Amino acid sequence: MTPNEFAALPLAAPLQQVLRELNYTTPSPVQLQAIPILLEGRDLLACAQTGTGKTASFALPILHAIHERPKQIKPRCCRTLVLAPTRELAGQVGKSFTTYGANIRFKQTLIYGGVGQNPQVSAMRGGVDVLVATPGRLIDLIEQRAVDLSGVEFFVLDEVDRMLDMGFARDVKRIVSLLPSNRQSLFFSATLAPSIVDLAQTILRNPARVTIDPGTTTAERIEHQVCFVDRESKRPLLEQLLRGQAEATSGKLTIVFSRTKHGANKLAKSLCLSGFPADAIHGNKSQAQREKALEKFKKGLTPVLVATDVAARGVDVKDVGLVVNFDLPNEPEAYVHRIGRTGRAGAEGRAVSLCADDELEYLREIEKVIKMPVPRWDDHEWHLEALADRHLRIKTGGGKAPQSQGGRRQGGGNRGGGGRDYSNASGRNNRRGPASR
Ligand code: AMP
Repeated sequence: MTPNEFAALPLAAPLQQVLRELNYTTPSPVQLQAIPILLEGRDLLACAQTGTGKTASFALPILHAIHERPKQIKPRCCRTLVLAPTRELAGQVGKSFTTYGANIRFKQTLIYGGVGQNPQVSAMRGGVDVLVATPGRLIDLIEQRAVDLSGVEFFVLDEVDRMLDMGFARDVKRIVSLLPSNRQSLFFSATLAPSIVDLAQTILRNPARVTIDPGTTTAERIEHQVCFVDRESKRPLLEQLLRGQAEATSGKLTIVFSRTKHGANKLAKSLCLSGFPADAIHGNKSQAQREKALEKFKKGLTPVLVATDVAARGVDVKDVGLVVNFDLPNEPEAYVHRIGRTGRAGAEGRAVSLCADDELEYLREIEKVIKMPVPRWDDHEWHLEALADRHLRIKTGGGKAPQSQGGRRQGGGNRGGGGRDYSNASGRNNRRGPASR
């Protein structure tokens, strides 16, 4: 056992057992840094993205405390409150607690909108150890006195940047005002813009700070490329990509990102008509519709999912081999979240962005955030060299021009199977990015 293995962390035996069963031997950088701090009872401000293993970094110490100090919980109360921006992410976090806490006696429930509230109200009646909730429905149930936050010991804010983007700032502040002051608070965000740090300061007490450099995570790990094309060429290029994916031996599933709900619907419909079984998920679909679509996607019955950013949060499907940004995101951080939908749990992944003339500015912003050029892929008949040139010319801040990748598929041989390989988890990930391959 080396000091950088899970076995060296003072986590309770039932948790160690689960980690062995999951084949997690090496903590990810955020886990390595955050778990000891949280076990000491300190507050935490963590800058870490989806795909870094951040969920286990808070779920394991919380489950440890629940196991070591079991407690009778009052009706309608919870010991742990995790706030997540979307129902998908809430579901994902809930699932992680179930997985990691498989050998621990604890009660948990989920609260989110878009579904009937009665089962949620009943689940809270006897109190729970872990409540994972989205802000809006949580406030509804607090106002109806179905949930009482006065017993919260652990408070986790997950994906705070996204929560603020979605307009939840007021709800979050309201929820915080209802928490007891004697609590441990954990704050996770993919970015630490000044407004986010300001909010953190009102919530955390003398927090330890952990920063996982985004440049060392998703953008470097995943093979991502940009195609310079005009709008009309996006459809035939997407179909070419999907045909390639249908022939893949593994990672057959594809997520296609659309900027608008209407665009997602339209694209899914026309893909179906062209012989690519596809479904759309976005904020206008009911929870039941989204769950059904996700289930069919996971099973490979509809191997193409057209999604908007919000709907795709927390979608953790292992077999996604391709992400296509049919529209580039207008928020650069969303790019990292999107491409992080592929290459999950150590699998191979590729992300291709289709960039038209009016999206060059978005691409420039993305490259600033990920601190690297997105390598271009021009080995297709719709490539527009003039657009690629314009991109180079409008790029500011120096940096080398993206190199042409020439071939269609680059190695991807830097991934192991069965869970992520965090054996290099000293805080920096030394894998070489696609730009250097
Ligand atoms: P997260 O960033 O929490 O969404 O986690 C990303 C993925 O990594 C999830 O599929 C986890 O199951 C997986 N994972 C988390 N921690 C580890 C670890 N230490 N070793 C291997 N896989 C992990």
